[in-house]
Amino acid sequence: MTTATMSTTFTELALIQPLLARLTEMEYRQPTPIQAQVIPYVLAGRDLIAGANTGSGKTAAFALPMLQSILAQKDAEYTKDRKGNYVTGLILVPTRELAKQVADSIKSYATHLNGAIKTVAVFGGVSANTQMLALRGGTDILVATPGRLLDLVSSNAIKLDRVKTLVLDEADRMLSLGFTEELTEVLAKLPQQKQTLLFSATFPEQVQALTQELLHDPIEIQLQSDDASTVVQRVFNVNKGEKTAVLAHLIKAHQWRQALIFVNAKNSCEHLADKLFKRGIEAEVFHGDKGQGYRTRILDAFKSGEIDVLIATDIAARGLDIEKLPVVINFDLPRSPSDYMHRIGRSGRAGEVGLALSLIDYEDFHHFSVIEKKNKIRLEREQVEGFEVDDNITQAMLDANKPMAKPAGTGKKKRKKNAQVNADVWLRNS
Ligand code: AMP
Repeated sequence: MTTATMSTTFTELALIQPLLARLTEMEYRQPTPIQAQVIPYVLAGRDLIAGANTGSGKTAAFALPMLQSILAQKDAEYTKDRKGNYVTGLILVPTRELAKQVADSIKSYATHLNGAIKTVAVFGGVSANTQMLALRGGTDILVATPGRLLDLVSSNAIKLDRVKTLVLDEADRMLSLGFTEELTEVLAKLPQQKQTLLFSATFPEQVQALTQELLHDPIEIQLQSDDASTVVQRVFNVNKGEKTAVLAHLIKAHQWRQALIFVNAKNSCEHLADKLFKRGIEAEVFHGDKGQGYRTRILDAFKSGEIDVLIATDIAARGLDIEKLPVVINFDLPRSPSDYMHRIGRSGRAGEVGLALSLIDYEDFHHFSVIEKKNKIRLEREQVEGFEVDDNITQAMLDANKPMAKPAGTGKKKRKKNAQVNADVWLRNS
């Protein structure tokens, strides 16, 4: 494993002037640790595995050197290698939102390359015709979800036999969303000789197997824990049935803007939005049943600050690029420990401090302990003033590593007057 070089500048990373000029305009003052480590190896043509979350700046880590390398190849080989519907750089991503977002970032980084690099995003849920038109004459960088990419290959809109660089972005997510077969099919269509870059927040067995099969003598990059963007994690005990009240109280008390709330089911998004509305809080929902047009509109409104509270499911929220998201709330706990890390990665991006809150009632205690154990974290259980948890539950919670039975007397709401930690004070001061 390599270690971070904290004081590196973009100039020292040997990026060309038009890219440097754009980074200055975008106020990227210094490479993030993942960028400082990844960029030189990508420029050197190495295969690479990087452990990186969204928010680490991983998009620029692969996009900047890819733009630079493809530009150099284009100068050298201009006509020879790019006939018809070629693709030079292929970036595979798990969701349409991420495809669009990555392509937008690349186009932005390429602002001063005078249109030399053509970047196209393709994803399902919208008409393939427009995408086919965009692919005419080939494309330098294609950002794609696996399913739509295969459709376009089978209708001859695109050929993958000239790919020089392959990026698997959020590889763990791609596999956990069930894209394994599509991915295998795509990989079989790529040339043997190519550069492969794999980014993943976690490395479950499936990802490790893929890594072994696909990468040649890869460099492994894992951020040191203190390099990661700063996310303050907090966990609040709440009484069963009081989560909505606590959430509404926190949102109002802290006047959070751009709060992203996670629930586990599409209909829970709607239910929670209705319940918050009755408490005077307007929230929008973001889940897989909503059409592409709606999702784009809501996301834009959330990004621009028109919407303060967005309630989302994991799949819909995956890969959203929302700068400086101040707070992420687990209303329902994520099913897996790795999803917890993905969720909290939505906040505290690239140097910004974010807040990740989890609301847990007694039924969540055990599950949350598992999440902590697997992620090697241990958080103090806190209480929200005015919503203190019954004494007997608090006592049981102290033994939180054991599975919990429903404690007697939960309905009585016997409040604990002096909460050990007054979380509200901390939040107010934060
Ligand atoms: P990513 O992890 O690629 O989704 O990037 C997270 C956010 O950080 C995006 O909004 C980027 O525009 C921003 N970002 C990436 N690299 C830098 C940097 N070196 N300096 C400042 N912001 C950055």
